[in-house]
Amino acid sequence: MVSRVTDDYQDMVTAGCMAVCEPAFWAGYDRSSVAGFHDYFCQLTDYEPRRAAKFGLPHYCWLCLNPKESEDVVFAQEVLAILPGFLGRPNVLGIGEIGLNKNSRNELKVLEQHVDLAARHQQLILVHTPHLEDKHKGTRLTLDVLRADSRIRPERVIIDHVEEHTVQMVLDAGFWAGMTLYPETKCTPARAIDILDRYGPERLWLNSACDWGVSVPLIVPRTGLEMRRRGHRPEAVDRVLYQNPVEFLSQCPKFKLS
Ligand SMILES: [Zn+2]
Repeated sequence: MVSRVTDDYQDMVTAGCMAVCEPAFWAGYDRSSVAGFHDYFCQLTDYEPRRAAKFGLPHYCWLCLNPKESEDVVFAQEVLAILPGFLGRPNVLGIGEIGLNKNSRNELKVLEQHVDLAARHQQLILVHTPHLEDKHKGTRLTLDVLRADSRIRPERVIIDHVEEHTVQMVLDAGFWAGMTLYPETKCTPARAIDILDRYGPERLWLNSACDWGVSVPLIVPRTGLEMRRRGHRPEAVDRVLYQNPVEFLSQCPKFKLS
């Protein structure tokens, strides 16, 4: 949302969205200092929820150093050191989106540190899986890191950007799976519904890509319309678009819908 205009807030409220959950992500450029992250975390936990509130939309966020900027391990450690100071803020759901981008050794190291931080602070986890490099390998490596930490309960972790070739291993390991919707590339609404038809709605839900690139904040409700067109019952649409995210997110006691 930090990259979107107020029309997007208005459209989401008009479409019936009940809350927005914004992951910490890459800003389109690498931040040059820890102070840059400090300011960004303030934006996500202070300014943006106030902006959303003007439109009557509750705003929640996830905090982390995103995988695209975790190649410099020393810098990552400095950013991770300031994170706990923000975790108690009222709109913070957990740690995310963490994970791998190019499946590098340094990214893996920083991923492990994030998982440790989440475990020590009893946080929910949101995981990004690679778009450009090998998604299957990246997902497998990520699952290995999570399973290696006995403090991590899979039902408190969502693995995002799953596709046809990764959804099964995520669900089989007991994690939640998220399909991130894009208008044309990556996972489109049509593909997401095909995946739902094949794997069912258990621990599977949808979210919209929403950043400075080509993306559509309303793509989740639009996918609901497409599900109806393809013969899904209203209750089935409600389960995937609303009940599933509420069930997962309510594991964070701060997540409340009025
Ligand atoms: Zn991502």
